[in-house]
Amino acid sequence: MKQKRYFLPESEIPTAWYNIQADMPTRPLPMLDPVTREPVTVDSLSEIFCRECSEQELNFSDRWIPIPEEVREMYTYYRSTPLVRAYGLEKALGTPAHIYFKNESVSPVGSHKLNSALAQAYYCKREGVTNVTTETGAGQWGTALSYAAKLYGMDAAVYQVKVSYEQKPYRRSMMQVFGAQVTPSPSMSTRAGKDILTVNPNHQGSLGTAISEAVELARMTPGCKYTLGSTMSHVSLHQTIIGLEAEKQFEMAGEYPDVVIACFGGGSNFSGIAFPFMRHNFEGKTKTRFVACEPASCPKMTQGTFEYDFGDEAGYTPLIPMYTLGHKFMPANIHAGGLRYHGAGAVVSQLMKDGLMEAVDIQQLESFDAGVLFAKAEGIIPAPESTHAIAATIREAMRCKETGSEEVLLFNLTGHGLMDMASYDKYLSGDLVNFEYKK
Ligand SMILES: *Cc1c(COP(=O)(O)O)cnc(C)c1O
Repeated sequence: MKQKRYFLPESEIPTAWYNIQADMPTRPLPMLDPVTREPVTVDSLSEIFCRECSEQELNFSDRWIPIPEEVREMYTYYRSTPLVRAYGLEKALGTPAHIYFKNESVSPVGSHKLNSALAQAYYCKREGVTNVTTETGAGQWGTALSYAAKLYGMDAAVYQVKVSYEQKPYRRSMMQVFGAQVTPSPSMSTRAGKDILTVNPNHQGSLGTAISEAVELARMTPGCKYTLGSTMSHVSLHQTIIGLEAEKQFEMAGEYPDVVIACFGGGSNFSGIAFPFMRHNFEGKTKTRFVACEPASCPKMTQGTFEYDFGDEAGYTPLIPMYTLGHKFMPANIHAGGLRYHGAGAVVSQLMKDGLMEAVDIQQLESFDAGVLFAKAEGIIPAPESTHAIAATIREAMRCKETGSEEVLLFNLTGHGLMDMASYDKYLSGDLVNFEYKK
């Protein structure tokens, strides 16, 4: 029988994360303090983030950052995640390409987000933090953080984008099961929320507004730190566990990826699966392509501009040098909630600017077509976010079919879609529509 899945023994699970900031051909421009417009420092970042994460954020010298033993131990509850050869999908497409996916949906909370939540919660705890706060869109990050906070005995306050809070009640329940306090955003509990609601009482919320609220709470509350599930370099760093494992698993399979594909919200899962392979491109050893897949309704990488912009709507976060649609941009209400973000991280933006990676836009219907095809072929119902990576993988596989090329394709299955069946229902009943991006 052909081998389908590759796992690592516990002793082979990586002991350090890969810090691409030490290796990049062009160092990203500095993030700027929102008030002074001076480059941020560890001190200024740690007013909102925990100290260790602030240090990691500005670490441009250490290529490898050790994973604390306590975090590695929690990783072993669900890692390694399987690298799977998608024979079913290959057959359904009739492609000679070898398709693999890294299945991050097997984490206890159902997505890759736990890889960074565990690290951030652990560092907060070690530094004496008692409360953590954050924002969540689709609810994946909020769920991961709620669980991680509980694990280390801290309280979690989560601002959930209002439209998701209402459309995805079970995500909210999950966070509440883990003991978190969940507030729909924009809310009247913060200055930022009040300001937004005064201008627009029916504001449906966005990640940008929810970030403003969480950052404000962290600034105002003693013993409280803010955590972020994407975009920041330290989050990407924690996610490199995905690609580092995959690298070892490909050795077991006797293959190496020609194309690495990931959906793109703020860039953390893309970074996680891509950066460890990218380092071999930097060394001139490989010519792997890296493809970030964004929703056509929120195309910051392909249609945004590279400039300094805020990470949130109110302008509380540092100014980040990034591809952005503007911090006031309100993305259409697509079902891939985790991809509705106006900007991209500073590191991925610089890599994009330097032509070291590519980006493609996927329409909502193409993404669900791909998700359903994948589900039928592999038996896993993917998260609406992940379907963007699947759609791009299918495009690549069909190109291989035309040229008869046996390329090795790897995509990241970031989460399962079992909490998103309402969106599949809509797709099946023909109610799902595409959204064009309008400036
Ligand atoms: C959050 C999320 C994403 C997008 O976030 P990135 O930081 O770009 O990885 C993708 N898939 C799932 C399942 C998510 O929860």
